[in-house]
Amino acid sequence: MQAERSEQLFALAQTVMPGGVSSPVRAFRAVGGTPRFIARGKGAYLYDVDGNRYIDYVGSWGALILGHAHPAVVRALREAIRRGTSFGAPTEAELALALRIREAFPSIEKIRFVNSGTEATMSALRVARAATGRSKILQFEGAYHGHADFLLARAGSGLATFGLPASAGVPSAWVQDTLVAPYNDLEAVAALFERFPDQIAAVIVEPVAGNMGVVPPKPGFLEGLRDLTRRHGALLVFDEVITGFRVGPGGAQGLYEIKPDLTCLGKIIGGGLPIGAYGGRADLMDLVAPVGPVYQAGTLSGNPLSMAAGRATLEQLTPVLYQQLEERAAQLAEGLRAAAEEAGVPVRIHRVGSMLSVFFTEAEVVDFATASATDRARYARFFHAMLTRGVYLPPSPLEAWFVSAAHTDDHIARTLRAAREAFREVARGGV
Ligand SMILES: *Cc1c(COP(=O)(O)O)cnc(C)c1O
Repeated sequence: MQAERSEQLFALAQTVMPGGVSSPVRAFRAVGGTPRFIARGKGAYLYDVDGNRYIDYVGSWGALILGHAHPAVVRALREAIRRGTSFGAPTEAELALALRIREAFPSIEKIRFVNSGTEATMSALRVARAATGRSKILQFEGAYHGHADFLLARAGSGLATFGLPASAGVPSAWVQDTLVAPYNDLEAVAALFERFPDQIAAVIVEPVAGNMGVVPPKPGFLEGLRDLTRRHGALLVFDEVITGFRVGPGGAQGLYEIKPDLTCLGKIIGGGLPIGAYGGRADLMDLVAPVGPVYQAGTLSGNPLSMAAGRATLEQLTPVLYQQLEERAAQLAEGLRAAAEEAGVPVRIHRVGSMLSVFFTEAEVVDFATASATDRARYARFFHAMLTRGVYLPPSPLEAWFVSAAHTDDHIARTLRAAREAFREVARGGV
């Protein structure tokens, strides 16, 4: 497989952009090698600048649940763009998308559109702090809620309960109100509530973790968070930027039947264009300006192109489509498990709906520590063996794979054929 043009472009890109990319994971640092420069996408396929074709399981990090350049989305965008790209004024399109989302998420009584998931979590937590008059936020180790300063926190060591900055440039004062607990560890959460009575404004959680690989909530975990937050007067914020419209029509909250106070959305609701949104109880959302005292604004928020692509995408998401996603993803997960076993490679495969990941380990994976302890070198080898065979996986063992509606039985079968060879390559070792 030739990557000459990608190599040339990557070399040049590194001279003008940090790491040659606009977002770090794209640089392939976790797997090594040269990121492919993408020329176009269609359906389940990505095409790179060297003319290679890949079956894509990244799907723009989960945004493209219909696959690339879906005709309905392209048509909606074409129609919208003729009417203008941005007005900085209310539109019918944004109202329609808001109503559509509220219909799917009963916990969302009111919603505000923003431009990214980062803005959604940052703003939702500002509302939570305003509503409770408390400062502290509890998040989980290995979660990703975007790159707002106060959410770039990692767990302190030992008995330290304060968050430590997870990035240079984040002053420790910015994260001193951010508490960090291991995912799936209710006792740790309960202990933090005991230790900081009446100080925790909100618990923010990915109801299915998707940024440490896919780690589902243990039975009772989300229910426990709901109970603890209620009991201690804190808000429960679901970050459904990935899971919203992904794991089912009503997101993870629909799947597990838990009602959070606030929800963050992004990715799928923009149909591949920049977007984010936060919403929830009307009394909380009415704290947001211009109704309430919480300031939050955006020049391009609710822009007509994102609204059009989002609406066109959500229109396609029928029960039949979710059923099909479920079946294809199950087929893929089962096939991968069988292929790994055949090659004698121990793996743990996690799947919730059409999001899944393959951990190279024999041990149980329940949180960031166990996800990080898996064999990353094996993942890197597997990744390249698949890429060479025309299958584009996330270039990191701690990112989710996404099956889209464009993946057919034939794509899955071809992926599994490649996987049987790739697992054998992993079993043989070496590079
Ligand atoms: C992608 C993601 C975000 C951030 O969204 P951006 O649009 O990249 O800012 C936040 N939370 C979760 C769970 C995500 O996966």
